[in-house]
This record gives sequence, structure tokens and C-alpha cells, in this order.
Amino acid sequence: MSGIGFEAAEDVRIIAEKIIDKHHPHLQDAKDLIGYYFRDGASDWAGKAKKCTAFERHVTGYMLFVFINQDAWDSLKHDQRLALVDHELCHFSRKNERIYDEEKKEWKDNWLDAEDPGSWGMREHDVEEFSEIIQRHGLWETGIEKFAVAVRQAEHQMDLEDYEREQLRAVK
Ligand SMILES: [Zn+2]
Repeated sequence: MSGIGFEAAEDVRIIAEKIIDKHHPHLQDAKDLIGYYFRDGASDWAGKAKKCTAFERHVTGYMLFVFINQDAWDSLKHDQRLALVDHELCHFSRKNERIYDEEKKEWKDNWLDAEDPGSWGMREHDVEEFSEIIQRHGLWETGIEKFAVAVRQAEHQMDLEDYEREQLRAVK
């Protein structure tokens, strides 16, 4: 019987920790609490994020898991790998509390203890829709509208980068 193999995914961790520094402040002090694994064998997903059960925490010492399908990973380009890992990290949410700083006289948000499982939750996708519904009905819902705005911003950003590259080339 051939089982399904799991292997610690150091490549994924390296990419993830860079993305955390840039985009996920709530994971900053929790880097060591996330376990990254490659999973071989066929699956209908490229990546998966999950909060550990009490038993998984006991066995691994981790609080959160990211699983990446090995075949999918091998077939992705670098930029796509970044997007996949960033996507999985977006699934982790962390509770915070507002506390009043007497000295600075201002409110601030504090993340709850990373070591407490109760601080962590899972977030679902903000956009869930069939592409054919969007084709037929357009951006009929605000979540999809926000998604479209984000796509346009990203495209604009890429255009800018292209433009800057062109300028650099022109200087040469
Ligand atoms: Zn997802």
C-alpha cells in the first residue's frame, strides 16, 4: 500500500517569512508556530491552510499548518508560488484587543497571545463566485466589486513596473 507522504517544506517557509514581513503583521511573532509541509500524491488543491487540533499541537509544537501539493508546487513559476503562499497565509486570522495607552493618551490594537490557540481563527475567501455569473451579471455584489478594484490596482502596479523598466532600458 502506498501512503501519502509529507515532508517539511523549507522552500515554502523561506518564501512565507518574507511575505509575512511585508504583508502579515499579525503573523510576525508567530513565524515559529507555523508548520509548512509538502504533500505528495494527487489532490484537487494546490495549497491548504489549517489551524492545528490540540493533538496536532501536542505532536508538532505548531499552532497553524500550511500544506502545499508537491506536484502543483513543481509546476508553478516563482511569482505563482508567491501568490499561493500569500493566499494560504491570508486564511489565518488573529484576534486583537483595543487597549488605552495612558502615557501616549491613545488607543491601540494589541494582538492576543500567539501561544494561545483561542487567539487564532480561520478566514474564508472574500470572493466566492462562478466566473460565468460574473460574465452574465457583472459585479453584482460589493465583495466582487472590491475584488475588481484590487485587480485593477494590481494591473496598474504592473503597468508602472513595466514603464519603469522601459525607462531604465531607455537610459542604457
Ligand atoms: Zn484559500
